[in-house]
Amino acid sequence: MRDIPVADPGASYRAHMGQIDEAVGRVLKSGWYIMGREVQAFEEAFASFLGASHCTSTGSGTDALVLILRALGIGPGDAVVTVSHTAVATVAAIDLVGACPVLVDVDPVSFTMSTEHLAATLGAWSGAPIRAIIPVHLYGQPAELGPIMELAARYGAWVIEDCAQAHGATYRGRPVGTIGIAGVFSFYPTKNLGAFGDGGAVITSDSGLAQQCALVKQYGWRTRYVSEIPGMNTRLDEVQAAILRVKLEHLPGGNARRQAIASAYQNVSIGGVAHPGRLLDREHVFHQYVVQAEERDRLRSHLSAQKVGTAVLYPVPVHKQPGYAGRVKVGPGGLPATESICKRILSLPIYPEMTADDISQVISALSSFSV
Ligand SMILES: *Cc1c(COP(=O)(O)O)cnc(C)c1O
Repeated sequence: MRDIPVADPGASYRAHMGQIDEAVGRVLKSGWYIMGREVQAFEEAFASFLGASHCTSTGSGTDALVLILRALGIGPGDAVVTVSHTAVATVAAIDLVGACPVLVDVDPVSFTMSTEHLAATLGAWSGAPIRAIIPVHLYGQPAELGPIMELAARYGAWVIEDCAQAHGATYRGRPVGTIGIAGVFSFYPTKNLGAFGDGGAVITSDSGLAQQCALVKQYGWRTRYVSEIPGMNTRLDEVQAAILRVKLEHLPGGNARRQAIASAYQNVSIGGVAHPGRLLDREHVFHQYVVQAEERDRLRSHLSAQKVGTAVLYPVPVHKQPGYAGRVKVGPGGLPATESICKRILSLPIYPEMTADDISQVISALSSFSV
């Protein structure tokens, strides 16, 4: 038995070492490290991979969220709806631009925004104007974008997709990130498309909005040293862009491998443990493979004794975090599904470089769990 970590970004380096070493060496030797050819080539390649017209790269996924909110003119006096069962980043970005985060519940099968609770929240809302809705394609599972887009249109709000965990996932055949006004990605090392450092991007097919993103991204400059509007500074660097160009080539294969591992896990039936839902109209890319277990902590120790690493993403919803509890609003009736699933969820190891032996070890550890 070997130790199987829940994620292993180093394995993705070892799998493509020759190509990555060549890419990094090329940048270091070029003498050009910021805003050069690699960044431009990656932005073009990533936009074209998704079928979008524009990609603006950023220093992180959190920065990408802040950038798109600022580019849309969302700030103090505005409200933005998202979920509480997500990476803190989603809510932190709304808070960072000075808008009020309004949190709705999730569907306990898909783990993504509950359309019913979104409708109820929008219907009952009487606070600051809701300018945007940010569904999160959590764990690689696309949120229910059809009804979310309809509700957003009815209430005059933009849809910004948080795709930080869902590079290459599709909803009714369309890549996520291309359905709302914009999609936001993170290239944190463990993400399906991960750099070996930080990075992020905003994707849009609205040219005016892309231009606004470019302005806000760099001090409001259209011409160097002339700030037309107040801006920020957030950049993907040339080394990470060169690495991401290599990694992007391997993204479809990596996602297919994650799906194959997920299918292998899904075939194991264990009492008291529910596998993640696969829905007909969406293609899940399994950034995480999340089971729900009545006796989660006992399952976790059992797997750990068999050298299988696990994680809980996320143990405490954002509206229960001390730093955010007083800064967010929750929809009518509270967030019962969000509060109950965080006690049951467990992420199992899933990454493209897992070997057949690794997968068998996880499966036999799961199979030997008895309620
Ligand atoms: C990772 C992540 C982010 C933030 O990305 P960073 O690059 O870490 O800033 C935002 N939203 C979700 C859902 C994430 O998983």
